[in-house]
Amino acid sequence: MSANPYPLGLRLAGRRVVVVGGGAVATRRVPALLDAGADVFLVAPELTPALRAHVDAGRLHWAERRFAPDDLDGAWLVQVAVDDPVAAASVSAVAAERRIFCVRADDRAAATAWTPAVTRHGPVTVAVLGGGDPHRAMAVRDAIRGLLRARKDPVSTVAGSAGGRVALVGAGPGDPELITVRGWRLLTEADVVVADRLVPGLLLDELRPGVELVDASKIPYGPSRAQEEINRIIVDRAAAGRVVVRLKGGDPYVFGRGGEELLACAEAGVPVTVVPGVTSSIAAPAAAGIPVTHRAVAHEFTVVSGHLAPDAPASLVRWDALAALRGTLVVLMGLKNLAAIAATLIAHGRPADTPAAVVQEATTDGQQVLRSTLGAVADDVVASGLRPPAVVVVGDVVHALDISEVRPSHPV
Ligand code: SAH
Repeated sequence: MSANPYPLGLRLAGRRVVVVGGGAVATRRVPALLDAGADVFLVAPELTPALRAHVDAGRLHWAERRFAPDDLDGAWLVQVAVDDPVAAASVSAVAAERRIFCVRADDRAAATAWTPAVTRHGPVTVAVLGGGDPHRAMAVRDAIRGLLRARKDPVSTVAGSAGGRVALVGAGPGDPELITVRGWRLLTEADVVVADRLVPGLLLDELRPGVELVDASKIPYGPSRAQEEINRIIVDRAAAGRVVVRLKGGDPYVFGRGGEELLACAEAGVPVTVVPGVTSSIAAPAAAGIPVTHRAVAHEFTVVSGHLAPDAPASLVRWDALAALRGTLVVLMGLKNLAAIAATLIAHGRPADTPAAVVQEATTDGQQVLRSTLGAVADDVVASGLRPPAVVVVGDVVHALDISEVRPSHPV
């Protein structure tokens, strides 16, 4: 077996692919076949729960038995994912007789086709064959994936998708690694990036050269004029044919005015998409070792903005009703009004000794955590000098992991 393999991209949409075996190998192979649109026919007496879920969802056909030669009727490709070499050899013998390519997990030398190590970058697929050594293939694939993710020019902008458009991208809470894979890819493809004050600076460090960076926090008007101005900038740039990423802290739709920007684009007829982000309302507590829910401690969490005082006429928040809840309360933008918020919650029945925590600049080098109680937290914040951006967490979850021996604190 010295001849080189001949690489191909198989277009499997609507074509029958037979998978023999229902264990770990089949579980790993089936998703990419489904992604390619293949008509997957799975033959196995038993399935893993993940494969069973595909069957239950109607994504593939399952014959609950051992392989029979007629199973290959109409097949374009067969994947043998069984350990037993005798069973595998009998499948590949039938496949060879019918001139159907056969991938074998148990014996690469006996296979007529090999599955490459793969990395996907938008519409681009990179497939690596390691000359019979799957570990070498994976190592090369990992290196290429690293290069693609770090690229400063777009690899996945294809003819046809050209043209102006806007993506509202959640940048995550602060750590640059907490952006989503899709958000990161779109950022590397952008011609224009309009960034908020709270987006991680290191993300901006990695933009490709020539990108226009608009700092939305420097727009010299009051908050509502500034929002109109941002809407105008993203719409105008996209209408001029540029690829615009509107990069926002956390998640675009959590107190981020993403909805207004989406409507502005839609009204102007500009294609717009939203990429959700890791929101600080959940990530900041998590970074401080506080789960927003915990079994037998809290079965709900409520996220609320504290930017208006509880008695402000424009407030939309029923603080009296929130005080009646037992679960976790997460307050964003709440430091300025914290004394009034805490007093209102206590006045409406939330006990003053309810645990409370404040997490400043979560997931960054500047992260600080204060643990207190609802009754004392406002004074403690003043005394400790904590400042925005910070999230306030109220509820018994603040101490849910205190006695745990297994609290994860290893460096990542
Ligand atoms: N869309 C953002 C929230 C925007 S409102 C999100 O989903 O996270 C801005 C508020 O978010 C800040 O006042 C603060 O309360 C909170 N916040 C954002 N980033 C934070 C961080 N790294 N640490 C603590 N709080 C943060």
